[in-house]
Amino acid sequence: MKELSIYIHIPFCKRKCLYCDFLSFPVEERKIGQMRGQQVDCGKIEIKNYVNLLCQELMSSAPQYRQYQVISVFFGGGTPSLLPAEDFARIMDTVREYYQIVQDAEITTELNPGTVDGEKLKHYITCGMNRISIGLQSADDEELARIGRIHDYRTFLRTYELARDAGFTNINIDVMAALPGQSVLSYERTLRVVTALSPEHISAYSLILEEGTPLYERQAEYLFPTEEEDREMYALTKDYLASCGYHRYEISNYAKEGFECRHNKVYWQRGNYAGFGLGASSMVENVRWKNPEDMKAYEAYVWTRHGKDMDAADMHGKDTHGKNMHETDMHVAERQILTKKEQMEEYMFLGLRMMCGVERREFEHLFGQRIEEVYGRIPDRLCRQGLLTQDGNRIWLTDKGIDVSNYVLAQFLFD
Ligand code: SF4
Repeated sequence: MKELSIYIHIPFCKRKCLYCDFLSFPVEERKIGQMRGQQVDCGKIEIKNYVNLLCQELMSSAPQYRQYQVISVFFGGGTPSLLPAEDFARIMDTVREYYQIVQDAEITTELNPGTVDGEKLKHYITCGMNRISIGLQSADDEELARIGRIHDYRTFLRTYELARDAGFTNINIDVMAALPGQSVLSYERTLRVVTALSPEHISAYSLILEEGTPLYERQAEYLFPTEEEDREMYALTKDYLASCGYHRYEISNYAKEGFECRHNKVYWQRGNYAGFGLGASSMVENVRWKNPEDMKAYEAYVWTRHGKDMDAADMHGKDTHGKNMHETDMHVAERQILTKKEQMEEYMFLGLRMMCGVERREFEHLFGQRIEEVYGRIPDRLCRQGLLTQDGNRIWLTDKGIDVSNYVLAQFLFD
């Protein structure tokens, strides 16, 4: 049976962080409206309505995945932990009822400090959740305030302890470098306190100032780490985390042995994944598509699919013309059947992000051509420059190559 990963997007946050350009809406600024003479909390209605849509989309899409078994489910956002526990249970029940999930599937939710209590976390475990990913970003309260996070370090610590008490044995903590006002010393302190907690996984990204975000507009007000300090933080991450028993398995991701994120590896290794919810992306059998990003358009999309797929899909997830449903569905915002060239680009571009690199034999098996036939002398040149290294079968990034990974990866894109 083929494998599938499921991504579920929850686009609600307590309030927007100042650097965030993800598809999420603040629910803290709820408008209390009037409905039939009664005061109603529009924020709550929105969430309930959204969960209904999600469950509907999961049900309607299920026939096209009858031949797949689900190896991971990932709730991302947004802040999925804002969902009431019963909504989580409803979504997971729907997934279980309509999809075949392997027994040891990795089921993750992202959560933000202060948005869960012990009871909710225990409920997650009852729902089958076995991994959580907590967005700490920094252990320095002033740094957190500058980027508009909703929590301070104490709140994070409380959440982390509650998660351990609830029984979570696989926890990721997100940290960020290159924050406004951050020094190499304060970043090192963040790494120190995080590793002292001994989470199973650590993701370490650098802040990227996205145009249009409040932080981008106000960047002149802050002192950002210099390029040199940025590089120092980068080097520190790898060396310090390695000394604490975390191996880097992807450019920005570190794990204790056996705790690499199964779900994210599917993205980098170009496995099949189906995204559900507002703006969620999917790639199944080299067809990529993206759900609408506008709530009204998403709602229309879900209700158009309903009926169509359920009626039209036969036992094998084919439509009435015998084509896979994901190849024929016209109600998605963007849909692209990847050409062989695009698949090769992605194989190299995404695969090289992982420290284990890419395999020559697999490339040849997938595309019927050797890497050198397609890329000529590029791999050899990058090896001579000390940016890649290779053995008989594999090619992977060197430490020097990781430092300039954008340059290296770009060499594998066609014009
Ligand atoms: S919690 Fe995450 S998704 Fe939500 S506003 Fe902050 S950065 Fe964006």
